Amino acid sequence: MVIASSNQNCPARPPFSALLPPKVQQIDASAYRNASGLDSGAVLVVGSAQSGGQIAEDLVQAGRTVFLATGRVGRLPRMYRGRHISVWLVLSGLIDVTRREILQQGPVPGRPLTGALHTISLQSLSAQGVVLLGRLTGVDDGRLSFSDDAEEHVRHADEGSAKVRSQIDAYIARNGIDAPPAEPDPAEVIGAVLPNPPIRSIDLAARGITTVIWCTGFRGDFGWVRVPAVLDAQGQPLHDNGFASVPGVYFAGLPFAISRRSGTILAIAEEAALFVEDIQRRLDTCL
Ligand SMILES: Cc1cc2nc3c(=O)[nH]c(=O)nc-3n(C[C@H](O)[C@H](O)[C@H](O)COP(=O)(O)OP(=O)(O)OC[C@H]3O[C@@H](n4cnc5c(N)ncnc54)[C@H](O)[C@@H]3O)c2cc1C
Repeated sequence: MVIASSNQNCPARPPFSALLPPKVQQIDASAYRNASGLDSGAVLVVGSAQSGGQIAEDLVQAGRTVFLATGRVGRLPRMYRGRHISVWLVLSGLIDVTRREILQQGPVPGRPLTGALHTISLQSLSAQGVVLLGRLTGVDDGRLSFSDDAEEHVRHADEGSAKVRSQIDAYIARNGIDAPPAEPDPAEVIGAVLPNPPIRSIDLAARGITTVIWCTGFRGDFGWVRVPAVLDAQGQPLHDNGFASVPGVYFAGLPFAISRRSGTILAIAEEAALFVEDIQRRLDTCL
């Protein structure tokens, strides 16, 4: 049984979303289409990875007042030294860093913030007028509280981008590749505009916030899987490289299942081949 129903089909909202006043419109990143689909008024976007960053930019460019509750997430430039960043990640092998290697350095990180057409950074958003907040920590009677960590989140993303750029530089130098020199990326060289003092608490009504958009990730709906010992206590896959602990059960398409490439379209051929090989071996053994 190859389970290919995805682990990105259920939006994951923090439990305290249920405490928001009923008149506040709440949607998930997957339901966002454009600013005109939202109630009029200011918008709070929660989460500053790819969905949150891109939605915040779309909204601010449509003239909305936007507050962004940031998280600790990396960032990638869209283009670097003449090529799309994904091309460098594939050529240099950075996309093939294994899940095991990543886990040696800590929990598997979320996908970094990047723009669809150009680099998006917390600082470029703030320069356009997005109000940067720290991590959303709670809701109480129409007031939302935030950590004082927006500046740290800007720094973390800067460090992540600088690390990837230096790894690509090293790859280019090692292989004598004729690539143009790095050019300053407008979204990366601009300074962050941070509220001073940091905003630790917001009254939704007083700030005119009528909509909250949850860009806080997704999980899988595996409720239909009734095979013992293949899901954890949260109902998510228990697996090693996509292989469930029960022989003959496979999970396809999971992010970081084998390497950083996993969970992207680039991984499908390679990972499917591993499952097919194992299925063939099992069939050969049975026959
Ligand atoms: C916002 C976002 C941006 C992304 N951007 C990129 C990108 O730029 N490049 C890239 O390579 N990858 C990107 N990805 C990842 C890419 O979308 C996934 O790697 C790919 O879709 C995984 O394919 P899949 O077939 O495993 O899962 P899915 O495409 O999610 O397909 C799962 C299918 O299973 C069906 N299903 C669910 N439950 C059941 C059931 N009980 N019975 C029958 N069918 C069921 C669903 O309806 C769905 O059709 C992105 C993902 C997201 C969420």
